[in-house]
Amino acid sequence: MSPLLATCHCGAIEIAVDAAPVEVTECNCSLCRRYGVVWAYFEAEQLGLPDASLTVTYAWNGRHVDFHRCRTCGCVTHWMPRDASRTRRGLNARLLPPDVMAAARLRHKDGAGSGEYLD
Ligand SMILES: [Zn+2]
Repeated sequence: MSPLLATCHCGAIEIAVDAAPVEVTECNCSLCRRYGVVWAYFEAEQLGLPDASLTVTYAWNGRHVDFHRCRTCGCVTHWMPRDASRTRRGLNARLLPPDVMAAARLRHKDGAGSGEYLD
């Protein structure tokens, strides 16, 4: 079976995912609402992340997490914590094939407020 791939617009970034996400999260925090991304959360070993030379990063709010985007086309691809002991990562689920994204339950997180899910 061919691996499930999340790809940026130009194709420079391919992230292999070990399983389709069951849930994806839209967050209304000041960064996510501007990026327009939908996150799927994974453990480190579930993702084949690209070489760091292919992305540029942005960090805010204490700079604990780097948000990566493609150096060529600018698509936001994923985030990962700077602390190597934190194993959770976020993949921009909008880079997955549309049918995979559509099959996942879309949840809404109040990142701008309580930090809790609204649904
Ligand atoms: Zn690209």
